[in-house]
Amino acid sequence: MYKKLFIPGPTHVREEILQAQAVPMIGHRAKEYSDLQALVTEKLQKMLYTKSRVYLFASSSTGVMEGSIRQASEKKILSTICGAFSKRWHQITMANGIPCGKIEVPMGQAITPDLVDKALSGGEYDAVTLVMNETSTGVMNPVKDIAERIHDKYPDVLILIDAVSCMCGAKIEFDAWGLDVCLAGVQKCFALPAGLTVCAVSDRARERGKKIPNRGFYFAWDVMDKKYEKHQTPATPAISLIQALNKQMDDILAKGLENRWERHMQMASYVQEWAREKFRLYSNERYLSPTVTNVENTRGISVTTLNEELGKRGAMISNGYGDLKEKCFRIAHMGDLTIDDMKWLIAQINEILGL
Ligand SMILES: *Cc1c(COP(=O)(O)O)cnc(C)c1O
Repeated sequence: MYKKLFIPGPTHVREEILQAQAVPMIGHRAKEYSDLQALVTEKLQKMLYTKSRVYLFASSSTGVMEGSIRQASEKKILSTICGAFSKRWHQITMANGIPCGKIEVPMGQAITPDLVDKALSGGEYDAVTLVMNETSTGVMNPVKDIAERIHDKYPDVLILIDAVSCMCGAKIEFDAWGLDVCLAGVQKCFALPAGLTVCAVSDRARERGKKIPNRGFYFAWDVMDKKYEKHQTPATPAISLIQALNKQMDDILAKGLENRWERHMQMASYVQEWAREKFRLYSNERYLSPTVTNVENTRGISVTTLNEELGKRGAMISNGYGDLKEKCFRIAHMGDLTIDDMKWLIAQINEILGL
């Protein structure tokens, strides 16, 4: 039976978007393809409020995280850890043998400008990694404020943002905030099938990349730039997904970006209110995510059984991440889900649990 996905990726994909992929293949050196990429890029730049370059990679998000790490630093990279996905940046950095350090806050807490400021004050770092929306805990870090502090005091430090579970679901002003790399796979808030990652890159990050000898090839900004102005990619792009992305961005822009951000906040408020009443919110109230809510399992229910019952009714939520399995459960409210979807889901949960 088909289950509607209320998990933090992949998310529910509308039928029209699935269908948008089912068009005849075009050559990636043909004018038709260049026209498609030019259109998509312009729409993505609108969504990210940026004039910077936006690249498309046939890869999941983690691939582009690794590519970004390899061309970010001539000194040392600081990773800021507040859960499983922010930790991934650090794991990738170490696995590539790049000098690095980390700061860490307990699960459910956020990274703050003061913490980052203190860690950078020694002057050893020239790049920082951050997760904007920590999917494992349901926390949204104050990226704008952190970036502002970095720009004020550490002008040479590049700011690398994993926005995988919030890009296209929450406002990200890439240029105004002064971000350097901001990436997201399209299987989350974009509500597309998996396999494509969008990544905005600042001019100064592109310049930095060129100075790093072992920056890799597939994800290297300067290699991408060889085809960028022709609106092409050096390697074969995920053409069908880009067709679907083009349709999705048309729909999103027609409905209005502000309406999209607002809908996500409304869905989040609805789920948060329910969670406070029936359970407890796991994470710091000041930093609650607009796209995924982590509910603390204060009633000691079996999350696995709840999900099995939901499955019979055509829905799926997520268990707690890693160590939080059965201690928490996560309800995603991202992508093309609506407030009515959330009301329906919560009604099912209430009925199953007799709440
Ligand atoms: C899902 C997720 C990832 C991993 O993305 P992939 O596309 O599976 O590589 C990374 N970071 C965050 C915050 C995520 O939510």
